[in-house]
Amino acid sequence: MDSNGKGHRIAFVPTMGALHEGHMSLVRRAKEISDITVVSIFVNPAQFSPLEDLGKYPRTFERDADLCRKENVDVIFYPDADQIYSDDHTVYIEEAVLSGSLCGASRPGHFRGVLTVVAKLFNLIQPSVAVFGQKDAQQAILIQRMVHDLNFPVKIIVAPILREPDGLAMSSRNVYLSPDERARALCLHQALCAAQDMLRNGEKEAMSVTKKMKQTIEQGGGVIDYIEIVDYDTLKPVSIMDGKVLIAIAVFIGKTRLIDNIVIDSQVLQA
Ligand code: AMP
Repeated sequence: MDSNGKGHRIAFVPTMGALHEGHMSLVRRAKEISDITVVSIFVNPAQFSPLEDLGKYPRTFERDADLCRKENVDVIFYPDADQIYSDDHTVYIEEAVLSGSLCGASRPGHFRGVLTVVAKLFNLIQPSVAVFGQKDAQQAILIQRMVHDLNFPVKIIVAPILREPDGLAMSSRNVYLSPDERARALCLHQALCAAQDMLRNGEKEAMSVTKKMKQTIEQGGGVIDYIEIVDYDTLKPVSIMDGKVLIAIAVFIGKTRLIDNIVIDSQVLQA
């Protein structure tokens, strides 16, 4: 670091490992804007409920480390759970409004675990910038809220969703899918494309769009956890789609719960 403190701009990419191109796109973004890039790999127990897949979540550290090396990541932070959570840990970060809907409604306590670990990682790593994926739209919004409300000196960048060539959003959980389920998983992207087409054709009623999405997912072999069309800033459901809306879905394909979303700004769409 020089005497002005320059040369040490840390960009941070938090992950749970089992890295794929989606993660690596965040890493590349981080590298563009920093002097030092830190990737954390930590399957955070606090964000899983007892009924979820913490035990079987894919752990592929050697492969992850190779991918990070190829991208010239400077530091991989790979702590054990007991290094992050001591036995006497009692303080958690809770968001009171935005975390109650969408994934927060389906996974009670999930965002409390996410915000707590991200706050701890920010304190440990002290980045200037942190890069998150639009794939977890509600998570990104909540982290921006936390940084704002608790005055973390970290700039949050939200990077676009990377997809497989056929449209499936990349996810560490895609490895759970059997070949048949992998084919069925396409219904998530198809439903979002159907919604986008309807909006392009002038449909503004959220109920009609939701109905079409429901049909697409059910015909494609998915079981809906939720389909929500919400205002991007408040995450409150909208009945008429005007301005910036988030169309977010969570769908079970077999036992695997997948999420996906698109953000649509009707003003931009009409322009
Ligand atoms: P995870 O390891 O699933 O906790 O994800 C770590 C980060 O990668 C989060 O900010 C995710 O939103 C982001 N991410 C996951 N999948 C994708 C994807 N397909 N495209 C872009 N970012 C992603």
